Amino acid sequence: MFIPKSGPVRSVLLVATNVVPQNDQHMIMPTQLDYLAAQLRGRGIHVECLDLSLIGTPFPLPRQEQAQDTFQHLFAQRAMVLSRTVAEGEFDLVGLSFRNLDPSLIQEPCAEQPIREYYLSDLLELSAAVRQANEDVFLVLGGPAYSLFPETLLRRARADYGIVGAGEAALAGLVESINQDRPPLDRIISRSFDFSSAVFSRGNIDLPAYHKLGVTASLQTKRGCAHQCNYCNYPALEGRHYQLRPATVVVDEMEALMRTGFEDFYFLDAVFNSPLEQAKSILREIIRRQLDVRLEGMLSPHQLDEEFLDLAEGAGFFKPLTSLGRRRLADAPPEPSLWRTLGYRPFSDGSAFVGNKYYSAQTMKDFSVRKKSKRNLILGIDAGDDQMLQGLGKSFDQAAISRAAQLIRARGIPLTFDLLLGGPGTTLEGVKNTLNLALEAGADTVNVALGIRVYPRTGLAAMTQGSLWHMEQDLLPVTAFQSPVPFWEIVELLEDFEDLVTLDYNFR
Ligand code: SF4
Repeated sequence: MFIPKSGPVRSVLLVATNVVPQNDQHMIMPTQLDYLAAQLRGRGIHVECLDLSLIGTPFPLPRQEQAQDTFQHLFAQRAMVLSRTVAEGEFDLVGLSFRNLDPSLIQEPCAEQPIREYYLSDLLELSAAVRQANEDVFLVLGGPAYSLFPETLLRRARADYGIVGAGEAALAGLVESINQDRPPLDRIISRSFDFSSAVFSRGNIDLPAYHKLGVTASLQTKRGCAHQCNYCNYPALEGRHYQLRPATVVVDEMEALMRTGFEDFYFLDAVFNSPLEQAKSILREIIRRQLDVRLEGMLSPHQLDEEFLDLAEGAGFFKPLTSLGRRRLADAPPEPSLWRTLGYRPFSDGSAFVGNKYYSAQTMKDFSVRKKSKRNLILGIDAGDDQMLQGLGKSFDQAAISRAAQLIRARGIPLTFDLLLGGPGTTLEGVKNTLNLALEAGADTVNVALGIRVYPRTGLAAMTQGSLWHMEQDLLPVTAFQSPVPFWEIVELLEDFEDLVTLDYNFR
């Protein structure tokens, strides 16, 4: 039986445990932790943040043979910093936010299976570090990856409580209950939070450090996703109904971030242009205030129309990011005219050696983006064949993709398609149709992720229960949907389109 500890909780340490390669475009700031800290502080709770993402993550990522040592060293270093912070501070509650289950960013040449399971061992090491530093502190887990396996991770990390879903109201409620001498008997807590009316005072994490690293600032205009793509856990985590924030509030937040020096912004929404009217209202507000910003966000062909593209272009989508320029100063490949002389060895994921220096796929892509006057519009279409789109549960069809591509290309905006192959409904014919559609649509690049991970509480999980897994915890180690077409056959077909396609193996 669970016997709750008693309080009080006067001081809280929130820890971002994200592992991201620094100085890479994929590096993201822990915005949700910033939001959470803002809400707790607003309720009079003393909060400090420790951002482990900023501690020495290697970039570029090491090659396979060195990866194990590098990650073990990194995780030991992170655990030591956390342990010291907890031991030296007078915290009553430590909240560990666990964002990613697997390192999806690790591509060739180090995408082997064991490395993909490192994040879990990191979480357990961090939890043990908290316990060692202070056995009495309340240890609370949260974040998207935690929310997928709450019971298992709570038990394995020996945590006191776990928060599933949005943390703002749940963590504040937990602290208040403990302080009123009524600690909850249920160790897994879920409490809805009204995101639509929330105003966040940003800067609880080290924003200047992110700005210096050239990281794009991120913010969220809504939570939730009403679509039903069957591999995706987003609706289970954020809800199937939208919580929309008013445009004035979102753009106020953007202006506050601009005062820290940011000019590039990434919208963290599941899909920025859905619902379409919300996206348009945000863009109109940015235009009305005449902000000189560059914008990024996940875009879908679903309902993408002429007016949206007008507004998006006017507000700052498609302009090259200034942060890319900052990163370029630190780490740019030499001019292409020199590559042949220096020696150029490309990998299938888009990364390359130029001379004896390795450049990640993202760096190579950024480099080509800088040379264009407009940044690519990336459409996450997953597939371009009706049977495959239906198999994935997408809410648009092949015709919608062609229509959207036509509107985009008519403006001279370079176009990238993101594909996800190997899900239900995948056929060789469908892959061929998809690539032909990309050619007909005039796509400049096609990013292909091969293989789909099965997450709990998704359509794919329901489809594979009994065959691939029995208990939810079976899905904790990386578990791939069995592609109807062997990967090697898909790869052979992709090779015919090698000038167009960048391939990333999710699974082998
Ligand atoms: S993949 Fe589909 S369900 Fe998931 S966030 Fe995107 S649109 Fe929503």
